Amino acid sequence: MVVKIDLSHLPAGLKSVIINNREFSSLPKDKRYDRSDDLVYLELPQERRIKIIKILEVILSKSNIDGYSVLENTIDKNEIAILKSGDIEELGIFICAHCGTPFQSHEQMMIHQRMHYIF
Ligand SMILES: [Zn+2]
Repeated sequence: MVVKIDLSHLPAGLKSVIINNREFSSLPKDKRYDRSDDLVYLELPQERRIKIIKILEVILSKSNIDGYSVLENTIDKNEIAILKSGDIEELGIFICAHCGTPFQSHEQMMIHQRMHYIF
């Protein structure tokens, strides 16, 4: 299984922080992998993508990089993208500010968010 990571929305500096991270660089790459490419192909079982998301989130928080989120593509589950918070809504993805769950419409997100207020 190939898990695809889309780094094309990141500035070059941030991209190199991720690519040069020791844990990230030790992940098994698919033969299509090219350091200069914005897409990183990892040869992994699909279940490991959750772990990859965690690794990426740790890299972002350790690097004091704010305003970026690691997201699973809601259509292609094998694709993970790192997006700047402001870009996310432009792509038609709505993120719950309370728990980070992505939604495909503003309405769905609003319905979901109500549950956070029942306390
Ligand atoms: Zn939520």
